[in-house]
Amino acid sequence: MKKTWIVFLLVFFSACLTPAARWVKGNTHAHTNRSDGNEYPHRVARWYQDHGYQFLFITDHDMVTPTAPLDADGSADDFIIIPGEEISLTLGRRQAHVNSLNPRSPAAAKAGATMAETLQNAIDAALRAGGLPQINHPFRRWSISADDMKGLRGVRLFEVLNMPRESNNFPAGGSGGTEGLWDELLTSGMVLYGVAADDSHDFHGEFLPGLAHPGRGWVVARVNQLTAEEVCAALEKGDFYASTGIELADLQVGDREYRLTVKPHRETRYTTFFIGGSGRVLAQVDGLDAVYAYRGDETYVRAKVVSSMGEMAFCQPVLVRK
Ligand SMILES: [Zn+2]
Ligand SMILES: [Zn+2]
Repeated sequence: MKKTWIVFLLVFFSACLTPAARWVKGNTHAHTNRSDGNEYPHRVARWYQDHGYQFLFITDHDMVTPTAPLDADGSADDFIIIPGEEISLTLGRRQAHVNSLNPRSPAAAKAGATMAETLQNAIDAALRAGGLPQINHPFRRWSISADDMKGLRGVRLFEVLNMPRESNNFPAGGSGGTEGLWDELLTSGMVLYGVAADDSHDFHGEFLPGLAHPGRGWVVARVNQLTAEEVCAALEKGDFYASTGIELADLQVGDREYRLTVKPHRETRYTTFFIGGSGRVLAQVDGLDAVYAYRGDETYVRAKVVSSMGEMAFCQPVLVRK
């Protein structure tokens, strides 16, 4: 057989053996009764498994709750539980809460003299513990400003949507909301990806808006295989979107254009906003399919989808250069 055919067959068979990429749904922020949640770890995990998630990070305050006993079969049931810790520092009334996702060990962090220093201490502690850092609920108690975050090193993830009531996600009263914070930081040159997370604490009792129930905000990440390492790698490189209900059928962030397709739900209507430097709306597209071809002067391009039901999806920014 000719050499070219052998090469062709090798490529063909290796392509067949490599599992196709797929989207998996998960929550990066959940508490159990090991800290201030009101449910046992195995029941917290069970809730997410029973409600269509493929992964869950358990992130109790200042401790790594053991997840191995909860997930003895690994991904055999198409659901994995990944360890985590919410490093919970305070500076006066202000909170510097940083998740350490899939660490090897608990983090050791102390508050600094300023919020920026405190956040950097938490990020560094997460990295030393082998975890992927995620800055949580920046506007809870109006704790963290853009200036506090601008010089941070070693962090790619922050909660653009933290679902409990006190998180002040949306623009009002002079605040530009967490999305405004995101655009300010992206415009300053920081590369930051937006997460939506439950920060769930309340798993039973009354279901009220003021409680921190599960199932409100999540991420959908692209992986080949369902492992903690692949989920973290997808989060770290921004190969995911954040959602409060919108499901995407496709998302392609290419060199020349940004393209997505929404999966329709009954008679719900959708609009996609493509957003660039300083939070400027570059284009607005109604319907299920949206595409934006880069002009070259946008600084970055990200996409946000909203629905007539009030749901949102945030897709991650890509840097655009002339
Ligand atoms: Zn917190
Ligand atoms: Zn929390």
